[in-house]
Amino acid sequence: MRAAAATILSDFWGLIFPRTCLGCQEPLARGEEHLCTSCRAQLPYTDYHLLPEAANPLARRFWGKLPVRHALSYLRFLRRGRVQHLLHQLKYQNQRDVGLALGRWYGHDLARAGLSFDLIVPVPLHARKLAQRGYNQSDPFAEGLSEALHTPWHATALRRTSHTDSQTRKNRVQRWQNVAEVFEVADPEAVRGKHVLVVDDVLTTGATLEACAAVLLAAGAAEVSIATIACADR
Ligand SMILES: [Zn+2]
Repeated sequence: MRAAAATILSDFWGLIFPRTCLGCQEPLARGEEHLCTSCRAQLPYTDYHLLPEAANPLARRFWGKLPVRHALSYLRFLRRGRVQHLLHQLKYQNQRDVGLALGRWYGHDLARAGLSFDLIVPVPLHARKLAQRGYNQSDPFAEGLSEALHTPWHATALRRTSHTDSQTRKNRVQRWQNVAEVFEVADPEAVRGKHVLVVDDVLTTGATLEACAAVLLAAGAAEVSIATIACADR
């Protein structure tokens, strides 16, 4: 009886504030969350988790740089498409729940494929950006993955260091080194001996995730894997 009343209430609520699909803006049906069934079916999934590492184009980007156990991305980033719209919602429209849902959906896929990790760590945001946006857009994705994979996540295991203010006096090589040095492990105890999954919203060059993976390995993480919501083709 109570469940029926809740359904009626939610249908009534839906009449006043219709929930629309974040992909196509059509109204959502009952049971659909954030994306309609048709948009979910049409997302550009990479399925990199199903490929052998040698055939995974994302894994290849890290070859010769540092050892990455699994290089994963839920979706391919396509400009002006559904994925860009979704990420925009997550980043600028305060749609924290989108990141959470994407993390849950992807986490279920990874668990089904038999992948497991000891700890999930989001790429930290600059303090200034955090203050502007109110949240780190990688946090809800980490949280959703954590739920589906039954693996803890640690929002402050990594932090950005702030000594990037003397950029102008540096040459190009020094500047690049400076970028590589913007992350440090804030909680080495938490990562030591662990297989850490570092997560971010988008991968473009891979430099950010590479820098995070490098400091985690230096701090004693046993293995590092990376996962993003979307990655851009090169
Ligand atoms: Zn849709």
